[in-house]
Amino acid sequence: MKHDDCVFCKIASGEIETDLVFEGESCVAFRDLDPQAPVHLLFIPREHISTLNELHAEKNSALLAELFSGMQQTAENNGISEDGYRVVINCNKRAGQEVFHLHFHLLGGRDLTWPPG
Ligand code: AMP
Repeated sequence: MKHDDCVFCKIASGEIETDLVFEGESCVAFRDLDPQAPVHLLFIPREHISTLNELHAEKNSALLAELFSGMQQTAENNGISEDGYRVVINCNKRAGQEVFHLHFHLLGGRDLTWPPG
């Protein structure tokens, strides 16, 4: 169900116009507003799921399959599959979650190891 005050619901429904880099039946992806790497994309379910805690692996299995194949495909399209990329989910405030609509950060295009090397 769409949440009226959720910015990611508005992006998923097209109410906020955004260039989508991936469009699936149950999820979409777009560029992060404040990129932390040359490739920084956000994969979100079309359905409003607030945090990882509300995701049901069995009930949402089709969504999960599409999210992961979408991330693999998009990483490939962006030429970062072989080099390497990182997928991050922040769950709740102490992990730094700012937008309460589940999202997967896909980061790549630079060295993500620490110390860099
Ligand atoms: P998190 O801290 O895991 O909740 O990440 C939220 C991310 O959403 C941040 O990296 C923001 O830069 C990004 N963000 C917030 N609003 C938008 C928006 N309208 N379009 C694209 N990215 C956004």
